[in-house]
Amino acid sequence: MSDAIRLAARLDKVGASQTQQVLVAVEQLQRQGVEVIDLGAGEPDFPTPDHVKTAAAAAIQDNFTKYTAGAGITELRAAIASHYAERYGVTYDTTGVVVTSGGKQALYNIAVALFGPGDEVITHVPGWPSIVEQVHLAGAEPVLVRTSAEDGFELRAEPVLDAVTPRTRGIVINSPGNPTGALMREPELERLADGIAERDIWVILDLCYEQLIYDDTPHNLPRVLWDRLADRTVLVGTASKSYAMTGWRCGWLLAPAAVAAGCNTVQSHSTSHATSITQRAALAALTGPQACVDTMRDQYRVRRDVMLAWLDADARFRVTRPAGAFYLFPDVSELLSPDGLRTSAQLVQALLTEAHVAVTPGEAFDAPGFIRLSYAAPMEQLREAWKRIQRFLG
Ligand code: GLU
Repeated sequence: MSDAIRLAARLDKVGASQTQQVLVAVEQLQRQGVEVIDLGAGEPDFPTPDHVKTAAAAAIQDNFTKYTAGAGITELRAAIASHYAERYGVTYDTTGVVVTSGGKQALYNIAVALFGPGDEVITHVPGWPSIVEQVHLAGAEPVLVRTSAEDGFELRAEPVLDAVTPRTRGIVINSPGNPTGALMREPELERLADGIAERDIWVILDLCYEQLIYDDTPHNLPRVLWDRLADRTVLVGTASKSYAMTGWRCGWLLAPAAVAAGCNTVQSHSTSHATSITQRAALAALTGPQACVDTMRDQYRVRRDVMLAWLDADARFRVTRPAGAFYLFPDVSELLSPDGLRTSAQLVQALLTEAHVAVTPGEAFDAPGFIRLSYAAPMEQLREAWKRIQRFLG
């Protein structure tokens, strides 16, 4: 017998999250005393709003520190249902809502509950890597539809419908998308939903950046699905991005009751439920004053526009204007050459070790030749980062 450690075969196709690896690399350099500017991590730089922290502290004081129902406390599930009813006009009761430890766990629960060997699940790239890997972990086969920079990375109905086969079981759409910030347009989703109307295909709509949309584009995607495919739609959301709560780990899903129950079964054998304290905090976030969300969004918008102007003025970067999220995703192929930095991953490594600016390589999103810059950082840091990048590129 060999001494080599053998992991389960399901991990053969699955790599560790590359978006999280950037966090680790930054932390390592910071521990060595290097002053890194971090435009890598996809998380708000703002502190969690005070009223949310107060609610969490009160939960601890009240000894609200025991197990809760697996799907989450009823008040929070009701608040989540109200949020989607008010914003999008879609109605779920609490039996259709499951609170999870982050949007990522919501997507994972769904993948395990709905997909398995022999199934194909369509999603779009450049895209967030965990979606594809979760499909692998569920034993199903991801099918990738590529969006293009020329088209602003917008997901169109046509290529998705072309990718549908008799084995297709699901379509996962992330809008606004990470890393591109692109929105799917309502008419495109209408065409897509109509095109699969007679099919047994689930549409999973990952709305993690739903409150970070900067332009006036109509974006009631939940309603488009609700009107056409309510019984085959699953919505995913999170407190992480809207309320600057990434570390609290709170997400959720809304689905037909049987699917919600299936997702709850998966969760009941892994994490049981989201942390009780976090659930109280998320309840305060969703039901408390929303001005904090507007304030953060306004600042992201200003930063997006400033950074876009910088990148637009430098012909070596070709960048599209993102409608949402907090990333810019420029094509950097002009900066690559066979006898210099050959790949965007090498460029990112050099930026980190030589310019001390962390960004995420396009390779993480199945898009070599691009880099992702997060503008969830204070303006002075963005300015300093751009100065360092310019100095490094000489
Ligand atoms: N969603 C964030 C990102 O894309 C966090 C990292 C992760 O959880 O994958 O950077």
